[in-house]
Amino acid sequence: MRTKIVAGNWKMNMNFSETKDLINALSAQSQTSDAKVMIAPTYTNLPSAVEALENSSIEVIAQNMHFAENGAYTGEISASMLKSIDISTVILGHSERRAYFNETDADLAKKVSQALANEMAVVFCFGEELEDRKSSQEEAVVKSQLKNALFHLEADDFKHIVLAYEPVWAIGTGETASPEQAQDMHAFIRKTIASKYGDEVADSVSILYGGSVKPGNAQEIFSKPDVDGGLIGGASLKADDFFTIVNAI
Ligand code: PEP
Repeated sequence: MRTKIVAGNWKMNMNFSETKDLINALSAQSQTSDAKVMIAPTYTNLPSAVEALENSSIEVIAQNMHFAENGAYTGEISASMLKSIDISTVILGHSERRAYFNETDADLAKKVSQALANEMAVVFCFGEELEDRKSSQEEAVVKSQLKNALFHLEADDFKHIVLAYEPVWAIGTGETASPEQAQDMHAFIRKTIASKYGDEVADSVSILYGGSVKPGNAQEIFSKPDVDGGLIGGASLKADDFFTIVNAI
């Protein structure tokens, strides 16, 4: 059975004390689903978040990392730095990284390899823009994103990969893919993985949906057979909303 996951991407929100408050509020929530829960605070708050959630099942993950092991990359963070503070999972390829920081599929291929070389797991984000969908190119775009950033991996590497399909037009816009649109794309993604790595890998990789998931729409989206959970932006900043989503699985 595939792992169900709900991951909260806090983006560039929450200062040190706000992070503490939100973690306290999350810790007070009760979980009734068996979903694995992850939160991604900003870099500066990772050590305190790890410490605060030491005895919790909530995993603290990073929002990004660099593709080099170390060196002259001012302002960047390496996989081994994350590992040294007990972070073992990183989000890579978020559409905001692609759009505002010019991350390419080629950069992401290197980042994914670097994360895996450091025994980290990856939540790999990808998804089409509105124009792609309007011109019916969404499957072609998604296929090329997967191929260019992930298809250099071995089948075994997929044990450490979680896929997060996030149509760019649905991120932070309040507009959500319909449950049917999400299911159709997730089935296509699984088929694409199967065509390269076989059914066993495709059937075991978790595919999350991201894009304006809220307490009111989570259950319907998560009820689709190929949707294994969600990557949540805005709604992950409120403990009640986030846990309503977690428990919607
Ligand atoms: C995201 O940034 O990954 C995301 C899904 O954001 P939101 O839930 O706010 O659309």
